Amino acid sequence: MADGWMQPFFEQQALRFECTGCGRCCVAGDDYYVYMSDAEAEAIRAHLQLSRSWFRRRYLERLEEGDRVAASGPDGRCVFLDDEGRCRVYPVRPLQCSSYPFWPEVVRSRTAWQREARRCEGINRGKAVATGRIRELVNACRAAEPD
Ligand code: SF4
Ligand code: SF4
Repeated sequence: MADGWMQPFFEQQALRFECTGCGRCCVAGDDYYVYMSDAEAEAIRAHLQLSRSWFRRRYLERLEEGDRVAASGPDGRCVFLDDEGRCRVYPVRPLQCSSYPFWPEVVRSRTAWQREARRCEGINRGKAVATGRIRELVNACRAAEPD
């Protein structure tokens, strides 16, 4: 083992998570976006069986930097969230959603994990999630990040 190597926080202790379905993570606010790749956008469009042009105009936004994100309403609700607070594209939701809360920046330290627990009531609830599964999600998020 190389000097100075530290085991990642999520491998040092079991992390518990159980989603309650409260929908809070689907209501963003100004500083939070649901990013998606071309492939993810296409999977969602196909799932909703919409034309490309309608889907692009009605459901997507481009940030100034060029990133594609899900549109959100004035109240910050993701455009894919239905009136009952359920995700209409759940089987094909973007990695950002399916990997939450096991994002690299959230599981990097106890402080970051506990800070996120203030936003998500599912954190520290239920059974421990297998470390291998968390590692898989963290690696998938890293692989999806632009260089
Ligand atoms: S905020 Fe947490 S508990 Fe609520 S829907 Fe999102 S992941 Fe589930
Ligand atoms: S795509 Fe679905 S899971 Fe992701 S923020 Fe929107 S409603 Fe929530």
